Amino acid sequence: MNSWIDIPEQSDFSIYNIPFGIGSTDGSPFVCTRIGDQVLNLNRLAATNFFSDLVDDLTVFQQSTLNAFIALGKPITNAIRIKIQHALSDNHSTLKNNTDLFTPFQKVQMHLPVAIGDYTDFYSSIEHATNVGKMFRDPENALLPNWRHLPVGYHGRASSIVISGTSILRPNGQTKPADSDQPVFGPSKRLDFELEMGFIIGKKTNVGETISTSNAEDHIFGMVLFNDWSARDIQTWEYVPLGPFLSKNFASGMSPWVVVLEALDPFRVEGPKQEPAVLPYLQYEGRRNYDIVLEVVITPENGSENVISKSNFKFMYWNICQQLAHHTCNGCNVNIGDLMASGTISGPDRDSLGSMLEITTAGKNPITLHNGEMRSFINDGDTVTLRGRAENGKNRVGFGEVANKILPASVQK
Ligand code: CA
Repeated sequence: MNSWIDIPEQSDFSIYNIPFGIGSTDGSPFVCTRIGDQVLNLNRLAATNFFSDLVDDLTVFQQSTLNAFIALGKPITNAIRIKIQHALSDNHSTLKNNTDLFTPFQKVQMHLPVAIGDYTDFYSSIEHATNVGKMFRDPENALLPNWRHLPVGYHGRASSIVISGTSILRPNGQTKPADSDQPVFGPSKRLDFELEMGFIIGKKTNVGETISTSNAEDHIFGMVLFNDWSARDIQTWEYVPLGPFLSKNFASGMSPWVVVLEALDPFRVEGPKQEPAVLPYLQYEGRRNYDIVLEVVITPENGSENVISKSNFKFMYWNICQQLAHHTCNGCNVNIGDLMASGTISGPDRDSLGSMLEITTAGKNPITLHNGEMRSFINDGDTVTLRGRAENGKNRVGFGEVANKILPASVQK
């Protein structure tokens, strides 16, 4: 499949992708997709009756989130995507003469794509859980006894999830210096990123209903990149016994384009072997992991990009279908727009770690950037960028990026 749109060779947004997002150029939001370096305004396209065989209520294309669009259901949204894909590859398409529909991506302001009612964060990378367990607990028994039996997770906070490009204030908080038994209040000294991906719920359930591993994909609209910003010093002091709280809820970054699950079909791979065997409700069939190459970049103020890690979503021990089956096995309901994040995605090698905590062994082994500066954690003025893409031959489906710059903490009295 080729497109009559000029698509740069290294573009994440090939004809095989066709993701969905919310953009604006003059303040009014619209549903859009991206092809190469062009944003296609689906609200304007809908106004030409392009979707008249699929959608009656065209207001779903002019809202500030994708929730109403997603609520059309997968049979409709998938048909919309395929219709766009065909039009963009058809040399005789009427879209070709309608230049009003397209805007260069640099001129489009992107927004958080969904209204996120609830945000759950899992802890599903065995390499990450092992690395953290070794550092903070027992090097011999890094994984807690439950870890191989269930996808560990906790409920995060949706209100502070921000779109890529948003600057983030270094959080203030309570920490306990190692050489004192009294806590102090002030800016976090151990600000960290977490390389994650997240999936977005596309079909709701009611309280009491469950979702099985075999129908989980029916309930998943698509995926995004996710940076679960974390203040390690605040976390270390506060997390016992109920888990992280203010060390995590000051901000998380999200990429603007939701890549639908169907676009990731060609990149399915087997997951890691799970031992011991999981309980029946967590068993699954088929290939439920995805080969998605991930990278983390630090760009210091006025400096150049430093790629500090390369990981892959395929390393996940617990897959997204198991996560959703576990989340709902007690009758917990889910809603359209809910975000389920993977947890930090570390790989097996030293250069595939998904957090500074792991890369620098909790600050003991700082890394050196191109400009000669050292980093144990993230400094003020640094921009952290996560990128992700799936690729086989010329079929490339990417996520673009999520980038956030860290600003100095606000002064508190
Ligand atoms: Ca996390």
